[in-house]
Amino acid sequence: MHKVSSLSSLGISDDISSAFFRPILATPSPRSSRPHHKRIKISIIGAGNVGMAIAQTILTQDLADEIALVDALPDKLRGEMLDLQHAAAFLPRTQIVSGTDYAVTAGSDLAIITAGARQIPGETRLDLLHRNVALFRKIVPPLAEKSPEALLLVVSNPVDLLTYVAWKLSGFPPNRVIGSGTNLDSSRFRFLLADHLQVNAKDVQAYMVGEHGDSSVALWSSISLGGVPVLSSLRDNDIPFEQAVLEDIRKAVVGSAYEVIRLKGYTSWAIGYSVANLAWSLLRDQRLIHPVSLLAKGFHGIPADQEVFLSLPAQLGRNGVLGVAKVQLTKEEAKRLQQSAETLWGLQKQLDL
Ligand code: NAD
Repeated sequence: MHKVSSLSSLGISDDISSAFFRPILATPSPRSSRPHHKRIKISIIGAGNVGMAIAQTILTQDLADEIALVDALPDKLRGEMLDLQHAAAFLPRTQIVSGTDYAVTAGSDLAIITAGARQIPGETRLDLLHRNVALFRKIVPPLAEKSPEALLLVVSNPVDLLTYVAWKLSGFPPNRVIGSGTNLDSSRFRFLLADHLQVNAKDVQAYMVGEHGDSSVALWSSISLGGVPVLSSLRDNDIPFEQAVLEDIRKAVVGSAYEVIRLKGYTSWAIGYSVANLAWSLLRDQRLIHPVSLLAKGFHGIPADQEVFLSLPAQLGRNGVLGVAKVQLTKEEAKRLQQSAETLWGLQKQLDL
């Protein structure tokens, strides 16, 4: 385990606080007493672009008392840990540790998995999936063993399939295994709508649901701006809109991820904020509604025997998924969800889990 270099190795005693601080009573030092609140520990597996963007957002938002980083590359990992530790003077106090061994993650409240193999040119989606399943076999069992009470949050792609894999490999109940899913797609959707309407994205309520990525479904009928339903207001004011225009906006949401990857090689900041926002809702029991990937069998016509993870707006709190919002889907939206479920189930059946 990498920790911050100990001063005792330089001949300076670790117990030097008495040189600077005096206890108010002649009792055992309060510095060694129980902390006044339960320490929150978050582990991040994969110290790449996404993992580090998540770590830095969590740090700046003061969400954890301890962050544990795990990666397969020890030098890169130690470098990332030291770089973050060196910002200590400007950040809320957070212990940052790292290691290639899962011992470093023990007792986590939340474990975020961002490690993933990248697609090699010519490789099929199924081949990539098999490689990522092999990776998850190394990651999930030790993670679950070291933190049996943790919430698991999967970010690695294909996120819906890998959330299923993490659920199977961890043996955790489904409320404690969540995929970041369309939380980011929904944020991109809200940004594009807000930009177009010249309003604050926080005032736009809009969800993308279903599969993260190309076949995600935009829930047009439930979009509202400051509580005003957007589509029916356009209709009432005789402002024309075509189904094709709506589909173009949905495609722009999906395309925006590809555009960022084409321009800078990867995406990081938005997913960092999106995941930190999920961590906040979960660990601070905020009970906010987020579209996240969850065990979706039985919802909106998805057959009860299809154990697939797809995004639906869900209430998140300290116990993970507290409930799935009873959103109304049109027949077409439900059909697209069912088609995604069918595709995912077909792929999952080819995995030996
Ligand atoms: P990256 O290549 O920069 O980082 C991946 C990291 O995982 C590397 O540091 C690598 O060393 C590490 N790793 C590989 N095998 C490991 C193992 N067995 N144990 C521990 N660590 C291991 O990639 P990135 O840009 O950070 O993306 C990470 C993942 O996040 C990808 O799958 C990407 O598609 C996904 N992603 C998801 C979303 C979303 O909305 N769900 C958004 C962006 C990226």
